[in-house]
Amino acid sequence: MIDLHTHSFFSDGVLVPSELIRRFEALGYEAVAITDHADSSNLDFVLPRIIEAANALNAAQSVKVIPGVELTHVPPSSIENLVHRARELGAFLVVLHGETIVEPVAPGTNRAGLEAGIDILAHPGLITAEEAALAAKKQILLEISGRPGHAFSNGHVARQAEKAGAKLILDSDTHAPHDMLTREMARKVVEGAGLPEGSLDILLENSRILLEKIGCRL
Ligand SMILES: [Zn+2]
Ligand SMILES: [Zn+2]
Repeated sequence: MIDLHTHSFFSDGVLVPSELIRRFEALGYEAVAITDHADSSNLDFVLPRIIEAANALNAAQSVKVIPGVELTHVPPSSIENLVHRARELGAFLVVLHGETIVEPVAPGTNRAGLEAGIDILAHPGLITAEEAALAAKKQILLEISGRPGHAFSNGHVARQAEKAGAKLILDSDTHAPHDMLTREMARKVVEGAGLPEGSLDILLENSRILLEKIGCRL
């Protein structure tokens, strides 16, 4: 299993990175990205800390830890700058907190992130056909979310991705131990989004391809 969207207590997760990763390791995960919430205020604080933790854990554990960030509620006009800044600071993965239907995320966030070349558009809510087509063109993964609330629009995201030829990824968006997905629960979330039997393996393969693209070997 692979999960490329999780939170530690460097944002609103409850676990220190070491415990977060140890718990995923115990569940048999191969790779986990720590992608704490960030904006212009804390990007340069959070990323070096996550990179430090990832380096230490990668030297000592079997699960591959990928340092990333989730740009969250950033005004759409500032997203491009922060994507560049995150990469300069060493983020291997840039996730964007998309237009989930359970929060007042600024309209235009999905599009600004796709144009800025993020890696994963998390919980994109009622994503439009044009946005899904842009994701397909730019090979940006659209997220099927394991998080209650964000997951309300998983079916819509799956349908728009299929129509546009965009690729999907499954992430737990873990904040606490009970959010971590077992393989069985992951399968249910994916099939609950209306995707056919066997789709979990396709979504996991999409995660693997993204890891190869960013130079992480499992
Ligand atoms: Zn989010
Ligand atoms: Zn998140």
